Amino acid sequence: MDHREDRAPRQYKATKGFTKKGLIMVYTGEGKGKTTAAVGTALRALGHGYKVAIVQFIKGKWKTGEEKALKMFRGQCDVFVLGDGFTWETGGLERDVETARKAWIKCCDLLSDQEHQLVILDEINNVIDYNFLDAQEVIRQLKEKPPFKHVLLTGRGAPQALMDMADLVTRMTCVKHPFDKGIKAQPGIDY
Ligand code: ATP
Ligand code: MG
Repeated sequence: MDHREDRAPRQYKATKGFTKKGLIMVYTGEGKGKTTAAVGTALRALGHGYKVAIVQFIKGKWKTGEEKALKMFRGQCDVFVLGDGFTWETGGLERDVETARKAWIKCCDLLSDQEHQLVILDEINNVIDYNFLDAQEVIRQLKEKPPFKHVLLTGRGAPQALMDMADLVTRMTCVKHPFDKGIKAQPGIDY
């Protein structure tokens, strides 16, 4: 093959005029993959020696694989599962707001510290969507974060104002999900 036809990229040149900054990223939508993609980003950041924090707002029935795996990066990855007590359909609104508030205080510490280069707030969009947390308060805090810090917010129903101020928004679309065929959630894939 004529070498002039080989257009495969080998190296990315530094692009002048583009600045590095801590990004605000949102993974939302109905399709599967939001938390998994966030965990993938955590792994990538850990590989570069970054310090990472993950707050999981909603606690499921099972201990997730990502919680177990990321806790192996002790000292480099801090995992907080703070959704305990969310009751959703049971009408325990006051308790849910209180749980969200406590979790949010922890998030504020992580968003303002000089320590974690990547902070993941997993399922926070749902919590805002349920009105357990105020979107404007979250946005205010994000605007004040240290400039180097990357923040990733996941969950269905991300508020428009958050998507407007974010640097990156990905909406997962559900084309098919095994749940629709009656196949239950499986370890290693779903949790
Ligand atoms: P994952 O954690 O697998 O990346 P997610 O974070 O995008 O999924 P959530 O809305 O947080 O999705 O829901 C988490 C759980 O719900 C997972 O077990 C996932 O398989 C399941 N799930 C996600 N999307 C769908 C869907 N469209 N239909 C049915 N179940 C879904
Ligand atoms: Mg999720």
